[in-house]
Amino acid sequence: MDAALALFDDGLAIRAIARRLGLPPTTVWHWCRGRRDESVSEDSRRERCARCHGTDLDRHEYAYLLGQYLGDGHISVGRRAVASLSVFCADDWPGIRDEVDRAMRAVMPTSSVSQVVRTGCREVKSYSTHWACLFPQHGPGRKHERPIVLAPWQEDVVREHTGRLLRGLIHSDGCRTLNWARPRPDGKRYVYPRYWFSNQSTDILDICSRALDRVGIEHRRPRWNAISVARRASVARLDEFVGPKY
Ligand SMILES: [Zn+2]
Repeated sequence: MDAALALFDDGLAIRAIARRLGLPPTTVWHWCRGRRDESVSEDSRRERCARCHGTDLDRHEYAYLLGQYLGDGHISVGRRAVASLSVFCADDWPGIRDEVDRAMRAVMPTSSVSQVVRTGCREVKSYSTHWACLFPQHGPGRKHERPIVLAPWQEDVVREHTGRLLRGLIHSDGCRTLNWARPRPDGKRYVYPRYWFSNQSTDILDICSRALDRVGIEHRRPRWNAISVARRASVARLDEFVGPKY
């Protein structure tokens, strides 16, 4: 039985294991699947979800993770409804990657978080049957091809922690660039920062736009898929929540 389980963990199909060990496939199936189902349901019994079990949600961290999810996050649902939440974090910004990691742990404390090394980035990933409860925007297809509407409880969180949502959005799909102004007559040049947020979903752009309005930050849409914050006072206000990537 141990040999069968080891081969199953290596990814061999039930029939291949049965052939190799000279056993009936049904026996191997019961050993491997039975054990796997047991461990999955054990894991899901341990899980606590703010939506299903009424446990406390870390709303401060949730608002940040929501911004990251809307920007660059993805939920996929695998076997037995176990979902994984992935956020792809560029190697250039290790501080942001750690912040995503912390937020995932805080929002789903009963699940562990792992980092999968990819080219130029890491996939920060956590498994739980409840990720889709916390991000009901999950659905088939890409985010910009379907409506993205926040649930009333999510709107409440965003109202309380607007700056955290903006931080998550800009950390994932935005940037803070430094523009050089033309040289002045005295030859001195000065730089001024501005923020950009780009996304292919007009619903997500609207969510960002409403959040900026709520905290009194002036912004424009120079392109249909981008928001810009350029006025000095507004940049300074957004700096209170976001600041340079790190
Ligand atoms: Zn749930």
